[in-house]
Amino acid sequence: MSDIDLKDYIRDIPDFPKPGILFRDITPVLSSPAAFQACIDRLAERYADRKIDAIVAAEARGFIFGAPLALKIGAAFVPVRKPGKLPSKTHSHVYDLEYGSDTLEIHSDAVLPGQRVLIVDDLLATGGTVEACLKLLEHFSVEIVECAFCIHLRGLEGEKKLAPHSVYSLVEY
Ligand code: IMP
Repeated sequence: MSDIDLKDYIRDIPDFPKPGILFRDITPVLSSPAAFQACIDRLAERYADRKIDAIVAAEARGFIFGAPLALKIGAAFVPVRKPGKLPSKTHSHVYDLEYGSDTLEIHSDAVLPGQRVLIVDDLLATGGTVEACLKLLEHFSVEIVECAFCIHLRGLEGEKKLAPHSVYSLVEY
């Protein structure tokens, strides 16, 4: 396993997307095959033996980490998408944003009752995105193994929104 410090590949962008926000930009991780590989390898090391049946991840950045991890640990990859993108029957969940609301959808046959599911996203901020994924999964009687992230912004207390599910991240700020 490489000894790469992932923080060396996470770029701080002040005042994006609006004044006062410090955006943690993961694109330098993605443009370094060694750093991206380290992310996937470290997550795979944690989950390879946890009997994960499916990884659920929301578009767009959840796909970037969720899909290679699913392949590496031999799990199904289940996309959660914005409305109108999934072609078959779906379940939807509407959730609040700072201004307005958003909707996420999952295929109604995406996972089976009793399956062990890992939720993956690039970054945990307020927890709203992954909380919406958890709500979608309430339709299926699955077992949530954990919610895994590349980055966890601790000050925003997103982990409280996801409780009692446990949260794991590779990097914290
Ligand atoms: P949450 O729903 O508030 O936890 O926000 C998490 C989602 O917003 C993730 O899917 C991220 O892609 C995105 N996001 C929020 N803040 C940042 C950031 O500082 N850097 C990168 N992505 C972010």
